[in-house]
Amino acid sequence: MPIKIALLGSTGSIGTQTLDIVRANPSLFEVTTITSNNNWELLVAQAREFQPDSVVIADKARYAEVKEALADLPVKIYAGAESLEQVVAMESVDVVVAAIVGYAGLMPVVRALEAGKKVALANKESLVVAGDVLMRLALRHNAPIIPIDSEHSAIFQSLVGEVSPIEKLILTASGGPFLRTPLEKMAEVSVAQALDHPRWSMGAKITIDSATMMNKGFEVIEAKWLFDVSPGQIEVLVHPQSVVHSMVQFHDGAVKAQLGTPDMHVPIQYALSFPKRLPLSGERLDFGALARMEFFAADIERFPCLGLAYEALRLGGNSAAVVNAANEVAVRAFLDERIRFTSICRTIEYALSRVERVNSPSLEDYCAADAEARRVAEEFMAGAKK
Ligand code: NDP
Repeated sequence: MPIKIALLGSTGSIGTQTLDIVRANPSLFEVTTITSNNNWELLVAQAREFQPDSVVIADKARYAEVKEALADLPVKIYAGAESLEQVVAMESVDVVVAAIVGYAGLMPVVRALEAGKKVALANKESLVVAGDVLMRLALRHNAPIIPIDSEHSAIFQSLVGEVSPIEKLILTASGGPFLRTPLEKMAEVSVAQALDHPRWSMGAKITIDSATMMNKGFEVIEAKWLFDVSPGQIEVLVHPQSVVHSMVQFHDGAVKAQLGTPDMHVPIQYALSFPKRLPLSGERLDFGALARMEFFAADIERFPCLGLAYEALRLGGNSAAVVNAANEVAVRAFLDERIRFTSICRTIEYALSRVERVNSPSLEDYCAADAEARRVAEEFMAGAKK
């Protein structure tokens, strides 16, 4: 019997690459649910190709188009964010691939874990916002969370078979498009420059997060929750070649790493096939052609967002949820050319200083912090210089 997948965010970068894997392995995987926000045309095309039991369009305004376009198929069509929370718990689902971008991905992950589903997690923001809640749910409902993020997949792969304590996790970072941009030019960089990632082709939000290195900060938080280590045990190293996807150092000093070309199909497929590996065609690493591999510390002056992520971990409570929300609205504003690149970090800093800290937050507290941080961030950006 093929593994039945609910693919949340099927129209995105991770979503479409997940479908490549399903397409290549029809006897192993079957997509029973696909979802998008408002890209109804691609959702409809995917429904025709993969014949899922249900589709969800989160934006209710697009429901009529989807309904009409799929009238001849025996597929259930749902609309709205609440439907995302319902489809993940259906009996026909074995694995939920969580590939919605941003905070919108949180509640479907919560519901999937509550229903005891295995979650293949790309949506790092859900762990950033409410990591403790998600890890508790996973434990309580015996619902494994398998990382898709390439760094965390590398760590996960390096930990297979290990029973001994982790001394340190080393997250590698490409450094993004502005690794060597003169500091005084950072305020002037354009949206097109920020979207031009040197190594990875990804959705717009994570590409901007990579340019600010907020993405790496989020990955530090994600790693803390997934692998139960303290922030002091997580080191970030810039590695512009993006060959080593991340490393684990054990208490005898041994270091294990996972290497490969930058191709998200590898960690997505591994999350679905674990503990097995399936064949995958694609470019292979050519060690002979690798001139060098560099590793060096990230420059916090250049990438203050990375410092803010560590600060949020130090402060604890709802701080990471505040950082995530403020970042989300600031990145949107930058993409819309409403604020400068350097204002993204300033907006987050402001929100972190303004939103009231809650020390042992419930899920509701995290949601409230998200809403308040968005409000405060918008207020700050309204007054910020373009
Ligand atoms: P994309 O922007 O390419 O795709 C996002 C998906 O989420 C789309 O299907 C989109 O639908 C859907 N979506 C967006 N907003 C909402 C909403 N409010 N409600 C419901 N669905 C929504 O993102 P990526 O695929 O790049 O990233 C997805 C997640 O994976 C992120 O959390 C990212 O950090 C993580 N990730 C991504 C990597 C990559 O290589 N892309 C690598 C590692 C992690 P629509 O098309 O209609 O807008």
